[in-house]
Amino acid sequence: MGSLVFQCPTTGQAIESGIRTDSDSLAQIRWLPVKLFCPCCRTVHVMRAQDGRLADKSRSEAEILPRLAS
Ligand SMILES: [Zn+2]
Repeated sequence: MGSLVFQCPTTGQAIESGIRTDSDSLAQIRWLPVKLFCPCCRTVHVMRAQDGRLADKSRSEAEILPRLAS
């Protein structure tokens, strides 16, 4: 189980979707459109679930820290 993290198509920043899933569930919903509010662009991006990647908790925290530091 991990959280789905997407990449902003404009800035390349990671966007936490808050969706918690696993690889089996993700395989079943991969074609579903996902609306994400992007804090970088202050707009909503619509992406497919398959565009996201699964991040476990420790990894997502590691990705958040550099953002806070910058
Ligand atoms: Zn964006």
